[in-house]
Amino acid sequence: MRRGIRAIVRMREAAPRGPRWMRAWKRLLWRYEEELREVRMVRAKEFRLGRTFLGRLPEEGELGQALAEFCREHGVQAGWISAIGTVRRAVLGYFDQQARTYLRLEVEKPMEIVSCQGNVSLKDGQPFVHLHIVLSGSDGQTLAGHLFEGTVFVGEFWVQEMIGPALERRPDEGSGLALWDLG
Ligand code: ZN
Repeated sequence: MRRGIRAIVRMREAAPRGPRWMRAWKRLLWRYEEELREVRMVRAKEFRLGRTFLGRLPEEGELGQALAEFCREHGVQAGWISAIGTVRRAVLGYFDQQARTYLRLEVEKPMEIVSCQGNVSLKDGQPFVHLHIVLSGSDGQTLAGHLFEGTVFVGEFWVQEMIGPALERRPDEGSGLALWDLG
């Protein structure tokens, strides 16, 4: 992470936030204006559509793992993923932005997969799947979040491969997450 951004992150966490803090904060933002502008810039890489796969999720399999294995087997290095179906249980995640760590929510009952969206890209040179999910119970109430685990009852998926430059995840110091490296 760049020096200025590190200083900004440190300052943002400093307390108490009195008038002195505010003056120092403004000085810091002014000093690293250019660096900040660069960080706030929208970055992307261009891809074209590759192969399209439709398939069934393996019964009793682990949702994320099954899709990651599928992508590895078929050499899908980048793409979009969507799935619907049902799970026997799941573990969802909520990223605590202050603590920079995931809180885990264990859902120990059968749920519908109302929507499961995500992507595949590279991490440590291997296809890596990142999924978010919306689940619903017998009362129609939903639970949602980052998907850590999902034991499949049945399900159907769509994988849309995208062909282009390497899309690689790397550790991001600021957020504590592994984010796409877009140069
Ligand atoms: Zn996530």
